[in-house]
Amino acid sequence: TLSACSSDNGRGSESNDDATDDAAVTVSEGATVGVSLPWLGTQNWKEADTIFKADLAEAGYNPIVQAGDNKVANQQSQIQAMVEQGAEVLVVGPIDGTQLGTVLEDAQAAGITIIGYDRMIENTEAVDGVVQFGSVKTGEFQAEALLQGLEEEKGEAPYNIELFAGGPADPNAQLFFDGAMSVLQPKIDDGTLEVVSGQTDFTQAATQDWDNGKAQSRMDSLLSGNYADKEIDGVLSPNDGIARAIITSAEQAGQDIPVVSGLDAENESIAWIASGKQYSTVAKPTQELVDQTMEIIDSLAAGDGMPEANDSADNGVKDVDVYALEPTVVTQSNLEEFFADNDDVMEIINDNK
Ligand code: BGC
Repeated sequence: TLSACSSDNGRGSESNDDATDDAAVTVSEGATVGVSLPWLGTQNWKEADTIFKADLAEAGYNPIVQAGDNKVANQQSQIQAMVEQGAEVLVVGPIDGTQLGTVLEDAQAAGITIIGYDRMIENTEAVDGVVQFGSVKTGEFQAEALLQGLEEEKGEAPYNIELFAGGPADPNAQLFFDGAMSVLQPKIDDGTLEVVSGQTDFTQAATQDWDNGKAQSRMDSLLSGNYADKEIDGVLSPNDGIARAIITSAEQAGQDIPVVSGLDAENESIAWIASGKQYSTVAKPTQELVDQTMEIIDSLAAGDGMPEANDSADNGVKDVDVYALEPTVVTQSNLEEFFADNDDVMEIINDNK
């Protein structure tokens, strides 16, 4: 079996040529682990930053955790620096799924194991596995919650809706949208739903850089351009920040609050769900995703190689092992049950219901 655990990470050693083989790769005790996050603009990434630093250090690794501020060049140079600092494992949530090939191929040639975190790493062989909550599943859940909310709160069909997607560089954005449209398209086709603006393509629905402000401006224009004499009943939103931007825009336009989906179970949105302002979110707890990542790193450190994955996905050039976790839809009806063990979140719920 190949061992990439030499003191120089295998760089310059005879094992280089084999570094991309499926042979069990291992990392040394106290190894340096680089964690490269896309940005800290939503609660999940801030949590990942904090939890990775704490959990890696506690498990005896040497963590280098950085975020790229949504700028691809930043992330590329941060990863390069992690390689130079002797990282044996890289955990990467890409800003743009397609823009890390070169830097990660260099890392892989140096014997470094590369784990995608939350987002797929696309168009490169240089990825050993990806941990994420099922992204297509997440989109399906968002759409199912939207439909359920419309039935519960907006009377009989047809319903007027609009569609929002996330940042187009993030591979999750397309997957969330595809999952959602697999549920919504048949309802658009049979007349249950009407997308009044007609903007049903991913490119029309996308929100550059997941920027809440841009989503709010788009919602303002959709409402002023299409809803002067109409009620908007529901909106597909890809995450909680964008959901709150959409709701704020609707309120400011004098509309009744539409049924809006979300993602991340952010504290602010938990408060809005408790008070009835946001209909749903999808919880994908950061701690679970970090735990799954740590399990892989520990397995490498124990000399057992990559653990067995439960799914796989095509990244454009190969099938990548996916360690997929199950997301959960959260609405007012299961909010307290879902967060029963979380005192901080329960306090937010009790303060707002
Ligand atoms: C993550 C979401 C997050 C979004 C924006 C996505 O890739 O899966 O949890 O809301 O990025 O930060």
